[in-house]
Amino acid sequence: MDVTCCSSTSRVVTMLPDKDGPSALGGGVQGDLEMAEHPSVSLFREYLRLKTVHPDPDYDAALRFLERMAQKLELPMKKVEMCHGRMLAIITWTGTNPALKSVLLNSHMDVVPVFQDNWKYDAFAAVKDAEGNIYGRGTQDMKSVTIQYIEAVHRLKAEGKRFPRTIHLMFVPDEEVGGHKGMEMFVKHPEFQALNIGFALDEGLANPREPFTVFYGERCPWWITVQCPGSPGHGSRFVENTAAEKLHKIINSFLDFREQEKTRLNTSQCLTLGDVTTVNMTMVKGGVAYNVIPAEMDVTFDIRIPPTVNLQEFEKQIQRWCKEAGEGITYEFAQKHTNQDMTSTEDSDPWWKAFSATFKTMNISLEKEIFPAATDSRFIRAVGLPAIGFSPMNQTPILLHDHNEYLSEQVFLRGIQVYQELLPALASVPALPGEV
Ligand SMILES: [Zn+2]
Repeated sequence: MDVTCCSSTSRVVTMLPDKDGPSALGGGVQGDLEMAEHPSVSLFREYLRLKTVHPDPDYDAALRFLERMAQKLELPMKKVEMCHGRMLAIITWTGTNPALKSVLLNSHMDVVPVFQDNWKYDAFAAVKDAEGNIYGRGTQDMKSVTIQYIEAVHRLKAEGKRFPRTIHLMFVPDEEVGGHKGMEMFVKHPEFQALNIGFALDEGLANPREPFTVFYGERCPWWITVQCPGSPGHGSRFVENTAAEKLHKIINSFLDFREQEKTRLNTSQCLTLGDVTTVNMTMVKGGVAYNVIPAEMDVTFDIRIPPTVNLQEFEKQIQRWCKEAGEGITYEFAQKHTNQDMTSTEDSDPWWKAFSATFKTMNISLEKEIFPAATDSRFIRAVGLPAIGFSPMNQTPILLHDHNEYLSEQVFLRGIQVYQELLPALASVPALPGEV
């Protein structure tokens, strides 16, 4: 990335010393490099050290931290309890015309577990190495974005700015375990209605190259188990109509399709992972003994379907595969998302126009994609609101949920500046038809 962006951050007057003493460096910053750290970076590292990790996230610590942030921003924070132990928080910066629809800045507080043995450093120590790379679970997904929202609002407020539209900073639990006790529940809550949201920003992914990636839709996850019944019998005979023969055919049909989609992705320049259907066989169950042919065998697949695929047709295809594989085969879904709403990225859309114009002005190019996995944006889009998935991380390998997840402090700081430009644009979108 452009190094000039780092020097422009030096206008911040108060510089805090690096909070890690030499003992916590883990072979990282040493000697001359142990210099003053940008306070936004220190804040980011502090948030990374809170163990909001599944299966038992310390949400209390996160909420205490966010309460402090609300005080720092001199803005009110509201907490809403979704169910026992599952609280979400909203910090609100009211606009000069609160009747207009608001801008939502969403981020989740939780992070996925780590396999510590595979990490260079303690995944919750937020170690910064000599290159300024900060290691920790959540550096990319998505504690960076949380702090960037907060710091951007802080700077805009310090500059005395006000905008017509209200900005809500929302911090939700449980995104990493499906959002059932988080965003999925909250979009049906009266408090969600009361936020009067017009447009939402939520998480995206890093881009290893210069452009930023933005996500305007997501694939639908279908988790399916196919049950193959068959004639049981002794393991020494050629029993007809066995569960295993059916299972064999089912597996072949799903994995042949997987191969086709993989080829389609690998032979096309313009397709990304979000544009094709992925199929993965994730579980197989059945059998009781070495010499007993079982009466049933089950196989489970994780399927992710792009919004461009006709879901009815796709399910008919699954039904054909089951029929072709033999008698009595059934299937059931553990998860079957069918919402295929995509957020407009047409220049005629006022929100997209404001969003994309900001990047044009900053001379940053955007790559529009379908998100390959699932985020809380799907619940926001499902209630008819536009949502863009965006985490300002370019020149960064995609390491979410991976070992040694890291983000460089330069990229992190640059991201705050991006939001400093983006938020005024979004919160100043002129009144839309139907708005006062
Ligand atoms: Zn995430």
